[in-house]
Amino acid sequence: MINGDVSFWWNQIGRDAPRAPLPGPVSVDVCIVGAGYTGLWAAYYLKKAAPHLRVVILEQRFAGYGASGRNGGWLTNAVTGGRDQYVTAHGREAAARFQTHMNETVDEVIRVATREGIDADIVKGGEFTVAYDAPQQSRLVAAANAERTWSMTDVELLSAKDAIDRINVVGTTGASWHPHCARIQPAKLASGLARVVEALGVDIYEDTRVSEILPRRAITERGTVEAEFVVRATEGFTAGLKNLHRAWLPMNSSLIATEPLSKEIWDSIGWDGRETLGDMAHAYMYAQRTADDRIAIGGRGVPYRFGSKTDSDGQTPASTIELLSGILHRFFPSTADVAIDHAWSGVLGVPRDWAATVGLDPRSGLAWAGGYVGTGVTTTNLAGRTLTDLILGTPSALTELPWVNHRVRHWEPEPLRWLAVTALYQAYSLADRAELARRTTTSPLATIADLVSGRTH
Ligand SMILES: Cc1cc2nc3c(=O)[nH]c(=O)nc-3n(C[C@H](O)[C@H](O)[C@H](O)COP(=O)(O)OP(=O)(O)OC[C@H]3O[C@@H](n4cnc5c(N)ncnc54)[C@H](O)[C@@H]3O)c2cc1C
Repeated sequence: MINGDVSFWWNQIGRDAPRAPLPGPVSVDVCIVGAGYTGLWAAYYLKKAAPHLRVVILEQRFAGYGASGRNGGWLTNAVTGGRDQYVTAHGREAAARFQTHMNETVDEVIRVATREGIDADIVKGGEFTVAYDAPQQSRLVAAANAERTWSMTDVELLSAKDAIDRINVVGTTGASWHPHCARIQPAKLASGLARVVEALGVDIYEDTRVSEILPRRAITERGTVEAEFVVRATEGFTAGLKNLHRAWLPMNSSLIATEPLSKEIWDSIGWDGRETLGDMAHAYMYAQRTADDRIAIGGRGVPYRFGSKTDSDGQTPASTIELLSGILHRFFPSTADVAIDHAWSGVLGVPRDWAATVGLDPRSGLAWAGGYVGTGVTTTNLAGRTLTDLILGTPSALTELPWVNHRVRHWEPEPLRWLAVTALYQAYSLADRAELARRTTTSPLATIADLVSGRTH
């Protein structure tokens, strides 16, 4: 089994040929820090809208090194942190507009990938959420009923039998499904996008770490880039930038990928629709059936490293691999003897209120996007288009969305940060175990953890 080495996805396709570092000081129109989906989408739409702009991307390692080359491959319409926070702060109409744009963004990504010749193994099979104990089932039904009060959502509730006919998860009590989600191969999208933006005339400088972002400047040890606009697109690595240590907490997420499964095993599981698969546990899991017929399954493991540290190229603790293998075998007992080919981890950016943001301060020229928590694959595209409108000074439906220029307070200093996040995930995992054992009531621990964290399910 390979552990780390960035991700299975990169291993499967092989890394892009290394790109040159920043050759020295330059002056451009837009400097983007970070070559993940956020930076790449921003560069793409900027060059499409204004081909004359000089745009550079500075990347500390290689394009797609971060979460964009490591994620679970859910191109989902989920609004980060849940829609309800926008209902409270901006009203129901604003929240509905945001959701409608998220639905459309799933299709926008698929459209651009097709148009630009990026084959990212995309199948729009929808999002399938399974419940396998009574508390999960009641949360599933409540969530589906709440969704049905909105006109732009279309969730189906499936009986245990109908759910099992689609994906045979042991102990299924029911499931929900909606169509606004596609399975992708994340690194193929990152690699393809990098190729496309380079062809549009964007310079991507790799192996170029930015130490500090200042108004109209990005500082690196290879020279300073001066720009009218500097875009911070560093997500889970943001804490490594000067003065941003407590901005977004780097939360870990980990995955394992099995070897390709035999026809017999697939016959016992089903999953012919290539839906993305998640559950209603508090410390939820996420999975996909890959194009080459493996299962890639992810979850939290070690949630957070003291002092906002990040992993070393995706290296994953044995306890996390065990935890994820345990979920795999519990869901699908026929996989008990299959080999795990690869395990890896990555960091996602978590703001104090669990709500993603995109914005621009026109006076300083500083722009940013991120804090997507576990739902950035689609949102980064919306962010890229919104950044383009903000930078070009083009008011649009996108710049009116309620996440634009949203500000949030910083995380607590250590050791409070570590204690709070570790306790939160212990509470969620204890709550899940209690619910599975009793199979009757929702654990009060999870409710308390939600209240303390400000996180919504
Ligand atoms: C394991 C895992 C599973 C996930 N699964 C899903 C999923 O299934 N669906 C979903 O919607 N979301 C998922 N996410 C979240 C999603 O992948 C991210 O929200 C999204 O990829 C963020 O893209 P980004 O470009 O903002 O950040 P990243 O992809 O992390 O890119 C940031 C880039 O900035 C570079 N960088 C950072 N600091 C500096 C610096 N100082 N100087 C220069 N460069 C720098 C990094 O090297 C990196 O390449 C997952 C995340 C993880 C970690």
